[in-house]
Amino acid sequence: MARVVNNKELVSTRLATNYGGWMYCDKCNENIGYLCYATYDRLKLSYRCNCGSQGKVILDFVDSKMGQECNDELTIVKNRFCCLGDNSPLITILDKKVTSYEMEITCKACNKIYKKRRNESIS
Ligand SMILES: [Zn+2]
Ligand SMILES: [Zn+2]
Repeated sequence: MARVVNNKELVSTRLATNYGGWMYCDKCNENIGYLCYATYDRLKLSYRCNCGSQGKVILDFVDSKMGQECNDELTIVKNRFCCLGDNSPLITILDKKVTSYEMEITCKACNKIYKKRRNESIS
C-alpha cells in the first residue's frame, strides 16, 4: 500500500521513486545508497559525496510515529543496515561513494530510532 509522504526534503540528491529505491548524488550522478521503501518510518540523512557535494534527505509520512531513541547498533546484512530487533532491512549507504555521513532512521516495525555516523577519515 502506498504511503502518504509528509515531509520530504532532497538536497543535491535524487531518489529513484517517491520515497525509496536508489539514491543518487545530483551533482555526479553516482548512486550513494539504497533506501528500502516499506520498512522505515522516518529518515534524516546528510552526507558528503566523493565528488564533494553535500547531500541531504529528509522523509517521513503522515502516519509516522515519534519513535524511541535507542543505543542499539544497526546490524549489517550484505551491506544493508538492518534493525537489530526484527531484522527489517532499512538502508544501504555505499561506503566507497561517500566520505562521511550522518543519519537517523526509524524502523517502522518497532519504532526504534537508530543513529549512525561516519566521520571523514583523516589521512
Ligand atoms: Zn557526487
Ligand atoms: Zn525494528
